[in-house]
Amino acid sequence: MTTPLYGQMMDVPLTVSSLLAHASRHFGTTEIVSKRIEGDVHRYTYRDCEKRAKQLAQALIALGVEMGDRIGTLAWNGYRHLETYFGTTGFGAVCHTINPRLFPDQVAWIINHADDRYVLFDITFAPLVDVLAPQCPNVLCWIAMTDEAHMPRMSTAASSYEALLAQHDGDFDWPLIDERCASNLCYTSGTTGNPKGALYSHRSSVLHAFGASLPDAMGLSARDSVLPVVPMFHVNAWGIPHAAPLTGAKLVFPGKDLDGKSLYELMEAERVTYSAGVPTVWLGLLNHVREAGVRFSSLERTVIGGSACPPAMIRMFQDTYGVEVIHAWGMTEMSPLGTLSKLTWEQTQRSPDEQRKLREKQGHAMYGVDMRIVGDDGRELPWDGVAFGDLHVRGPWVIDRYFRSDASPLVDGWFPTGDVATIDKDSFLNITDRSKDVIKSGGEWISSIDVENIAIAHPAVAEAACIACAHPKWTERPLLVVVKRPDADVTRDELLAFYKGKIAKWWIPDDVVFVDELPHTATGKLQKLKLRERFRDHVLPSALATENCPLDDEAHAKSDPS
Ligand code: AMP
Repeated sequence: MTTPLYGQMMDVPLTVSSLLAHASRHFGTTEIVSKRIEGDVHRYTYRDCEKRAKQLAQALIALGVEMGDRIGTLAWNGYRHLETYFGTTGFGAVCHTINPRLFPDQVAWIINHADDRYVLFDITFAPLVDVLAPQCPNVLCWIAMTDEAHMPRMSTAASSYEALLAQHDGDFDWPLIDERCASNLCYTSGTTGNPKGALYSHRSSVLHAFGASLPDAMGLSARDSVLPVVPMFHVNAWGIPHAAPLTGAKLVFPGKDLDGKSLYELMEAERVTYSAGVPTVWLGLLNHVREAGVRFSSLERTVIGGSACPPAMIRMFQDTYGVEVIHAWGMTEMSPLGTLSKLTWEQTQRSPDEQRKLREKQGHAMYGVDMRIVGDDGRELPWDGVAFGDLHVRGPWVIDRYFRSDASPLVDGWFPTGDVATIDKDSFLNITDRSKDVIKSGGEWISSIDVENIAIAHPAVAEAACIACAHPKWTERPLLVVVKRPDADVTRDELLAFYKGKIAKWWIPDDVVFVDELPHTATGKLQKLKLRERFRDHVLPSALATENCPLDDEAHAKSDPS
């Protein structure tokens, strides 16, 4: 056998800490601005951030945290959360960002499954922590991300983040870590059953940050002032906390104020050029801008993803306000970025209508992600824009298996996304449906199975199906389709009242329709696709009640044929 000839370049591991170290050394004076939970605006630099992240690492090591230990966070987008991203991973611990919008029992389940040693939380979540603490006996200490003066009143014994940091000087060298070690952990509830953990490595996180920064991906730069609206508890805010220090971009964090007015004012004050978030957030922002009769003076580009971006939203951003929309698709299992709707030079030479149609799709795969669509027989389908099938992906930042699960989710080495799509001859992906049994409301998952199980527990319900129904503000909301038991009766309102206290309020269906029977396959499986088709035009009462949807009353939105 021939001996391989190895390259002779330095074997430097790709570590998450190297991203912040780079920003601190080469963009040391670039600002990180945060609207704080305490009410004021905090500003400091990448250099300050690295020093404090090192203080946090020293504090956690002094508390006994070891490599591989999970550290949970329940926090908004802010500088302390950013410090946690690096102060944990920097010495080999795992930064586990937790979605505080989930039902408390689910949050507790996730903390216990991850076996978090410590959980850091923003003071807004103090009441939640009081509910969680008795259910999470393995958490050694809950750390409030504030100073002694702002410590909340709680039944749980909590420590102050600032008091912990004050005991250390930040004189610390990031250790060299095997790049294949775990760095970040995010749970997704976008699957059936319990939430599942995606455990990223240093290598996958750094490669993803590289890929995301490319001009035809998210395209971040040191000339940008970036405001991630997408929460840092949602797949690492799509990788922005890693890509921003890699590129030297200024960071602007909105804290908990995500309404249109607050976002607009912060964007203007900090000369934000670049933002990212789910469609629901942008509705609020566009609403404010239209009602206040103002314009964006600095915003140039925004990434919209997490759910399909309505074509009218793309047009309003681009045609009315001159802001480029980058429509992106990805998922927790993909770190999350997969495809983006940036056009090639040749595509920009086509008619405006053709370009518009391309931008409405989810775009082309970025380097690092390969994709294919397959039919029911598992065979690959053509890229003709017509054939649709299950979307599979693979690549160095795509999940291999879920945290603490031995079963491989892969099919022939590909990860099945649960999305159904076409791919056209331009290699542009178009998500047409979803085979996974979940609903996405305002960027957050609702398990239709959990909703159905509660309905079935009602004595008057024989069978129930929960499906996604289009909604102008939330993109999708749950609709419950019910078959009553013979001789039993229940009204819509009684059924909806039955949900109270059993699941999170925002999981409760917006409407109930009663039918004589539900469609099934020959093997007795519910045919949700058929149900979704049947109720495609169902108008939810909550949709009628949605006031001031900026996309509704625009003439071009009304004439939209799509
Ligand atoms: P998550 O893991 O919460 O990021 O959710 C990922 C899922 O959200 C994907 O598998 C899709 O079902 C959906 N999704 C994300 N981005 C888009 C998009 N641009 N268009 C349509 N669906 C999307």
